[in-house]
Amino acid sequence: MKRLYEAPAYDTAWPDSHWRRSQPVPAPSPALSGSATADVAVIGAGYAGLSAAHELVTRFGMDVAVLEAVQPGWGASGRNGGFCCLGGSKLSDKGIERRVGPEGARAFRAYQHAAIESVGAFIDGHGIDARQGPEGETYLAHSAAAFAGLRAEAASEPGARLIGPGELAGEGLSGPGFHGALQVPVGFPLHPMAYVEGLARVAMEAGVRIYGNSPVLHLAPKGDGWQLTTPEGEVTAKKVLVATNGYSSEDLPRWLAGRSLPVLSSILVTRPLTEDERQAQGFTSKVMAADTRSLLHYFRHLPDGRFLFGMRAGSSAAPKAMAETRRRGRQHFEAMFPAWKGVATESEWAGFVCLTGSLAPYVGQVPQAPGLYAALGWHGSGVAPGSYGGRLAARLMAGAEAGIPALLSTPPRRFPLPAFRRTGLALAYLAADLRDGTLPR
Ligand SMILES: Cc1cc2nc3c(=O)[nH]c(=O)nc-3n(C[C@H](O)[C@H](O)[C@H](O)COP(=O)(O)OP(=O)(O)OC[C@H]3O[C@@H](n4cnc5c(N)ncnc54)[C@H](O)[C@@H]3O)c2cc1C
Repeated sequence: MKRLYEAPAYDTAWPDSHWRRSQPVPAPSPALSGSATADVAVIGAGYAGLSAAHELVTRFGMDVAVLEAVQPGWGASGRNGGFCCLGGSKLSDKGIERRVGPEGARAFRAYQHAAIESVGAFIDGHGIDARQGPEGETYLAHSAAAFAGLRAEAASEPGARLIGPGELAGEGLSGPGFHGALQVPVGFPLHPMAYVEGLARVAMEAGVRIYGNSPVLHLAPKGDGWQLTTPEGEVTAKKVLVATNGYSSEDLPRWLAGRSLPVLSSILVTRPLTEDERQAQGFTSKVMAADTRSLLHYFRHLPDGRFLFGMRAGSSAAPKAMAETRRRGRQHFEAMFPAWKGVATESEWAGFVCLTGSLAPYVGQVPQAPGLYAALGWHGSGVAPGSYGGRLAARLMAGAEAGIPALLSTPPRRFPLPAFRRTGLALAYLAADLRDGTLPR
């Protein structure tokens, strides 16, 4: 497994996250041992891989084995902010239209909505206790110009509501750097670990075999299918789905080399706030929120009174860089919510999201590799789009009508100068910080 970052980023221990602290560790999935066969082998047990596996078994009656390097949910699916929301691409609305036309842009929009509905229906239908708050999402303008941008955007989302600068306090959205907001009635917050572990349980009950501690080390064609080798076993499968997103290896499959860029995102969760503390800041809205900076901050009150605050981390996972990430995270939190300066951080952690060279996700066949598929590249918003993308990949692999939007159907390009992706990222961060302004660097 040839990976892009320093070893600590791939430490197989559970990160000490609020999610792991608040959700009992389930019985571990056993490692693959010896030889096995399957109709489909899925690499990666996050939202995408598990949703695909569940769909293949329940809808198409296939025999599916999921191979996971650590345990289900160990990747980004067990570490994220729990925003089940719109997103999935780093292209602007105009950029999407330029690439796939107005019809393709509408199809991508419909995909994002269908994805949120699909996750909601899944957790409700299977009694997974993961919902954490009211529907909707608030985008808070970080400048007057950004508020003008939100005003222009308001028309594109039915039911969207503009909140002027003078109305923020009445909505419980006060903060020193907020210049107005746009609230959309779409999406909902969830407990990401409860969702991914519930998904794994439901998939196993349906017949999916999940093998934990089973990193796929080699993947090679065998007969009219594929052979996957793990430290203690091997699986021969007719088809394979690569669902490794930000935890992908450059050489698995080799086609992926240089086409994806894992990017670290970090989260801190405070101790529970008192009602007086919430009022002192004036930020009391339970609706999940993000600001409009290009390097955005995302935040929300958790049901138990704690406050979650997330932002991008640096371009290195070395211990010194991660210490700097924690320092900067706390600094931005205090700058945006000064009344909570004295409120201690209780847990903090980081994980990888995944960009692609095309700035859009990919759900489809790996070119020139019959039977090999990929579903990845959710660009920091994979709770809904990743889950649904996995289901669409399953339909495609089963030969059914999948309805994959054009934006997700084109294999990602390689990044220019792939060897320098992290250097490029550091430069992009510098430029974005300068553009975003106002917060300490
Ligand atoms: C800090 C953070 C905050 C985020 N916040 C949000 C949010 O609020 N809302 C949102 O929509 N999205 C958010 N995201 C993004 C979202 O979590 C991801 O897009 C999503 O979880 C990706 O799911 P996945 O199944 O594609 O990949 P992952 O969940 O990352 O799973 C990939 C799995 O593949 C396994 N794997 C890798 N290589 C191998 C191999 N060779 N063999 C076997 N297994 C392998 C890994 O161990 C891993 O478990 C956030 C991400 C992070 C890190």
